[in-house]
Amino acid sequence: MLDRDHCLALDAGDPLREFKDEFVLPEGVVYLVGNSLGALPRRTAERVRRAVADEWGKELVGGWNTEGWYEQPLTLGDRLAPLIGAGPGQVVVGNTTSIAIYQAVAAALRLRPERRVIVSDVRNFPTDHYMVQGLAGLLGDYEVRDVAAGGFEDAAVVLLGEVDYGTGARHDVPSVTAEVRAAGALMVWDVCHSVGAMEVDISAADFGVGCTYKYLNGGPGAPAFLYVNPRHHAAAENVLSGWMGHAEPFAFEADYRPAEGVRRFAVGTPHVLSMAALEAALDMWERVPMGQVRAKSMALTSLFIDLVGDALEPASPLDAAARGSQVSFRHPDGYRVMRALIDRGVHGDFRAPDILRFGIAPLYIGYADVYDAAATLLEVLDQELWQDERYAHRRGVT
Ligand SMILES: *Cc1c(COP(=O)(O)O)cnc(C)c1O
Repeated sequence: MLDRDHCLALDAGDPLREFKDEFVLPEGVVYLVGNSLGALPRRTAERVRRAVADEWGKELVGGWNTEGWYEQPLTLGDRLAPLIGAGPGQVVVGNTTSIAIYQAVAAALRLRPERRVIVSDVRNFPTDHYMVQGLAGLLGDYEVRDVAAGGFEDAAVVLLGEVDYGTGARHDVPSVTAEVRAAGALMVWDVCHSVGAMEVDISAADFGVGCTYKYLNGGPGAPAFLYVNPRHHAAAENVLSGWMGHAEPFAFEADYRPAEGVRRFAVGTPHVLSMAALEAALDMWERVPMGQVRAKSMALTSLFIDLVGDALEPASPLDAAARGSQVSFRHPDGYRVMRALIDRGVHGDFRAPDILRFGIAPLYIGYADVYDAAATLLEVLDQELWQDERYAHRRGVT
């Protein structure tokens, strides 16, 4: 079952196999970091070139009107919405996930002024928790409670990630959302590690945030997105009350007056060039059957776990339905193991203190890639290639 020829046969029968040709991937590299920075779609370079040379170069400031730049936060939001189970007019694109978290949690607190507890997850990607701590510090008189402490009855808002960045463990979104809402709290989902890797549906939640540079392949620094449930459009407030969320930005009025709908959650000038790269990625996503992406993701991550066997201790759930599109393992010298692996063409990453992460993006990773990655990993471990002195010193970005 687990030999390379079998994997090649699975690749040949893969309904998603044609998507690999839509990406630029370096020769001799198995890229398992699509959960951190997605690979480059072929169409992106031309789309960005056009934005620079034709839109900016020829239209100059007129591009705000003629090239749709001003509308990008909403037009791209509408195109992204189906990927998270949302509808048109519910998603705004821009800023960073950290900023979107701040906006979402702050808006939720204002909608539940009688409650003083923010539930967050200390195991979540740190920025989520940091942003909550900063907001609570500014407001004073708020308790930030770890989700492990339990209890939503007195919570104003609950912020959780659908898929854990470290272990890849996945929450059951419908049941957690229902539980949080039944307790009278507002639910904010962070879908950074699930969007583009599986069918995501946060339409029952109150707010949602996510980034577009991981599985969505929007490019380094691609803008984030913020979903606001329509039931809050009239009352939810944007504490980052920038001019782009004003009802009439170009009236240059003295006082802030929020725009109707999700537009009020825009803050400042859109990142036009980053939006162009994201747009190119979304052109592709429109053709991607997400059910097949999830099925292949579960098969690939299971294959990787099976091939590695007991050579490493898994940190991810063994049940495919309970994990995202990544596999994590623990090793006390994980950093060195990863460096040795990258030197041999298999790119994963390391998360302190001891996690080796492998993101498996089904659009450009195949069964034979997973086979080769596992074979190289086993070689690095068996021969203790990681013991080489070259791997002892840490670089700035792991
Ligand atoms: C990647 C990621 C982020 C990134 O935040 P930025 O502000 O866009 O840098 C935030 N939260 C989670 C859960 C992530 O996985």
